[in-house]
Amino acid sequence: MGRQCHPLLRGGITETKYSDGLPPSETEALNAICEVLLPPDQSNPDIQSFYKSSGAQYPVPHKRRERVLQMWMKHWLLTPIRLPFVFLKFICLFIFFTQVGEDSKNPAWKAMDYNVDIDESWNDGPERRLLDQGIVETMSETESTFADCLRRKGLQVTENGSLYKIQCDVVIVGSGCGGGVAAAVLSGAGLKVIVLEKGNYFTKTDYSSLEGPSMNEMYEAGGILATLDGKMMVLAGSTVGGGSAVNWSACIKTPDSVLKEWAANHKLSLFSSIEFVSAMNKVCDRIGVTDKCLKEGFQNQVCVKKTRIIKYARTAHLFAMIRDSGSGEVKSEGRISYNLSKPDKENIKIGLRRCLRILIAAGAEEVGTHQSDGQRLKCKCITENEVEEFLDSVVAPEGPKSLVEKWTTYCSAHQIGSCRMGVSEKEGAVDENGESWDASGLFVCDSSVLPGAVGVNPMITIQSTSYCISNKIAEMLQKQRDG
Ligand SMILES: Cc1cc2nc3c(=O)[nH]c(=O)nc-3n(C[C@H](O)[C@H](O)[C@H](O)COP(=O)(O)OP(=O)(O)OC[C@H]3O[C@@H](n4cnc5c(N)ncnc54)[C@H](O)[C@@H]3O)c2cc1C
Repeated sequence: MGRQCHPLLRGGITETKYSDGLPPSETEALNAICEVLLPPDQSNPDIQSFYKSSGAQYPVPHKRRERVLQMWMKHWLLTPIRLPFVFLKFICLFIFFTQVGEDSKNPAWKAMDYNVDIDESWNDGPERRLLDQGIVETMSETESTFADCLRRKGLQVTENGSLYKIQCDVVIVGSGCGGGVAAAVLSGAGLKVIVLEKGNYFTKTDYSSLEGPSMNEMYEAGGILATLDGKMMVLAGSTVGGGSAVNWSACIKTPDSVLKEWAANHKLSLFSSIEFVSAMNKVCDRIGVTDKCLKEGFQNQVCVKKTRIIKYARTAHLFAMIRDSGSGEVKSEGRISYNLSKPDKENIKIGLRRCLRILIAAGAEEVGTHQSDGQRLKCKCITENEVEEFLDSVVAPEGPKSLVEKWTTYCSAHQIGSCRMGVSEKEGAVDENGESWDASGLFVCDSSVLPGAVGVNPMITIQSTSYCISNKIAEMLQKQRDG
């Protein structure tokens, strides 16, 4: 890398969070025991041959092994094997292509002609770590320095054994689109606010362009999170800023039709109020939303300007986003299930076919889907009929556990509506002010509070909802103060 990025985003760092807690002499003894179990002595040629051989060698020829693995992927009778196999395949490929060594390089990249983007001209801003004044990074503190560090940041702390009591007006859990806006509004109203964020803090000068270490550090579960049945990959930011720190910055106001539906069907007047429209404008102003884009990204060029795709020099990835109506459950941390409805599945198929149409119209040499058999079509000199025939064959059967030969994995980057606003306890977990029906003083103001999917990128909707909820909280606390 041309520049010093944050050590955690540089890769090749050995795990330092955990220590075995053993003194060096005991670690040495443990090493000695391990050495007895797996001795390094390779002087005997037979033993040498044993150590050199691997499961990848004779006697099972490569072609046959490949056929067996393909059968695991394809044959619906072997469906129970598919899921672990798919996870294994995904993790192997993910690690192989993205992880880097001490030198921040991956040995496979040269052969693939892959270069990390080192254009850092965007990264010459003068400011460094804007939150430094107020942030307490627990990874840099020990038990003995923690309380003092809090005090240095202006907090009143009382200690009771290993318990710290910190005085404040508001505690916000999570610093994403919802939590971040709430923190800005409430602290702006003069309240003492503490934000608890489980992810680490990185700013633009810390970024490294290395996908592997960055996914590890900035995404929930290191970017490897899926529903239990493997039907859906779940992507979410987990760092200071949450999703807003990793997302693609597409800023779209809540469509009128959605606002009307939420106001009419769910009787939530917030979404038909002038207050909400004004919140969307304020949020867009604050984060600098503009339609005066200086340079479109490659995929956008393909969609908007019908750029001709030049051979394989570039691969464009388009995806279809649907306004899903399915539902699911989170049984415990990381144990997620989710089922799309029938219309959702139909919409995914229609969307996928449209994406392919756009790519073909933009002059793609070859198009394909992420279906398990690598479904694809060479487009050169192809007739319209052949295109239609191919598109008719494009479906998106869900997940490796479905009893079909070919299947695909969906992806969710917009988890919404798990703790909905409702006009009564029956209709939702929180009321129209975002306050829990069960626990007074507990408010929800992130994506979970929305009555359903937005159908477009949801950041502006989430931030605007949080803006409205937190303004009401500020008013309420002010009234309580005034007595
Ligand atoms: C790859 C990607 C691209 C996207 N692109 C766009 C886009 O272009 N436009 C758009 O509008 N939307 C986009 N989104 C969606 C958008 O970013 C999310 O919908 C939005 O960030 C959700 O906001 P939130 O406040 O609900 O949660 P988040 O922003 O996800 O924030 C939640 C935060 O809470 C923290 N947290 C969770 N549990 C705890 C805990 N127990 N203790 C402490 N902290 C905790 C997490 O670490 C995280 O930082 C994208 C999302 C992803 C993943």
